[in-house]
Amino acid sequence: MNFYMPAKVYSEANCVMNHSVELAALGTRALIVTGKNSARRCGAFGDVTAALEEHGVTWVEFAEVEENPSVETIMRARTVGCKVKADFVIGIGGGSPMDAAKAVALMMKHSDADWPYLYDKSAETSTLPIALIPTTAGTGSEVTAVSVLTRHDKKVKGSIPHKIFAQLALVDGKYVSSAPASVLANTTMDALCHLYESYIHAKATDYSRMCAEQGIRVWARSKDVILGKRAASAEDFQNMMNASTMAGMAIAHTATSLPHALSYRLTYSAHMAHGKACGYFLAGYLKEADPKAVRHILKLAGFESIEELEAYYVKTCGRDAVPQEILAQTVQEVLGNDAKMKLPPFAVNEEVLTRIAGL
Ligand code: NAP
Ligand code: FE
Repeated sequence: MNFYMPAKVYSEANCVMNHSVELAALGTRALIVTGKNSARRCGAFGDVTAALEEHGVTWVEFAEVEENPSVETIMRARTVGCKVKADFVIGIGGGSPMDAAKAVALMMKHSDADWPYLYDKSAETSTLPIALIPTTAGTGSEVTAVSVLTRHDKKVKGSIPHKIFAQLALVDGKYVSSAPASVLANTTMDALCHLYESYIHAKATDYSRMCAEQGIRVWARSKDVILGKRAASAEDFQNMMNASTMAGMAIAHTATSLPHALSYRLTYSAHMAHGKACGYFLAGYLKEADPKAVRHILKLAGFESIEELEAYYVKTCGRDAVPQEILAQTVQEVLGNDAKMKLPPFAVNEEVLTRIAGL
């Protein structure tokens, strides 16, 4: 058992400005990695550049990270970062720009290496310093060591083997307050999947469950906002972010489980948003697990039953019809992956996977 969380987390309103000294201390010239629009629109980009400028740190932006970032995008960002001689990386956004920032910081440090370095299990993992600023309340990437990338050459999406933690995570609820209802619903569903999958996991410990249980309690505080029963306050947005960060700490110790493993094919082939794709399998996963443990975590989130959780998913994310051949393909892919088959704390075979996939 170990508990390792090297990312320093500040979670509060205006934390970027409040901790600008520590942000600026990471280097002299930053490569700021973002998606196309939201980092600017939500105010995070302006706060970060103001914080850097206050301390004489220069910056260059790469604002081209797409959802489910590809290896090609990482390499283009690396070229920009090396050309301007940036010496640290700041990722602002949802999981896509934050995961991209980790991979870019790795490839900038190993500037002579070509893209296969990303997938080389024997390669050294050192990176430039990294700061991450989430603008969705779902992935927890700011505190995980995971970078999920899309490989178009193999038509797959998955984590790279390098384990990369940020030095600094700046978590401010106001950045998610501008997100549309669908982004809020899908990303908070991702956080709930992290919390539940980490709790019902072969590698769960009392330490990882400490993060998961409190994360579920904090997650539950803003459930009615996602259900549209009341308007969100600033406190709700900070709670959503905190639940996501705690969920990240939980999966940093256990990894995710079968709902995530099964989801990647839905995102790649059926273009389903990440959190929604994971949530698609969550009720099915819980039905296979120890009923006592499941009752406990459902109760912590204010759900009476798995059926109530499923109804919540349908109401907030919507349950899309997924072509049977895509579901059958994801079952076969997971079945052929020994490491993924060992993620749950219960025995898995084709029959179990087929039930979870609803086939
Ligand atoms: P995302 O792919 O980063 O972003 C989804 C959409 O939301 C984009 O259109 C983005 O716009 C927009 N958006 C982001 N913040 C917004 C805001 N504050 N207001 C309005 N719109 C906003 O979504 P995500 O669900 O956070 O990340 C998903 C990715 O993270 C997947 O690749 C998934 O596999 C990965 N993931 C990683 C981990 C981990 O541990 N590292 C865990 C779970 C998932 P812009 O394009 O303009 O930014
Ligand atoms: Fe996730």
